[in-house]
Amino acid sequence: MAEGNCLFCKIITGDIPGDVVHRDERCVVIRDINPQAPTHVLVIPFEHLESLDDASQKDEPLLGHLLRVGARVANDEGHSENGYRTVINTGAGAGQSVFHLHIHVLGGRPMHWPPG
Ligand code: 5GP
Ligand code: ZN
Repeated sequence: MAEGNCLFCKIITGDIPGDVVHRDERCVVIRDINPQAPTHVLVIPFEHLESLDDASQKDEPLLGHLLRVGARVANDEGHSENGYRTVINTGAGAGQSVFHLHIHVLGGRPMHWPPG
């Protein structure tokens, strides 16, 4: 399932190191290398899907799992009271730079709307 040239597939297999905060049978959560908030983690499924656009009906349980894991990590990091933001960038025009589906979870500072 790992794609040869994919950064996140390499982090999942351990070929490239990542600061892992959670791992289960379907996903890993790592700290973003360039954090945009005091907490900035990435929820990354083991399955290589290029983007949300590549997800199909069979992936619905996985997508739900990723969101719930993101919420749990945000809570573990102490952001249940002040809130946190979950973001999926889909496509280069929306800011996606790594083409392996992932959910950003950001917390620990005020968030503005609309996002830039
Ligand atoms: P995207 O721009 O695709 O939505 O998000 C990709 C994220 O991956 C960016 O926030 C970027 O900082 C992060 N990132 C890029 N390379 C690495 C890396 O080698 N390790 C980690 N932990 N994060 C990375
Ligand atoms: Zn991948």
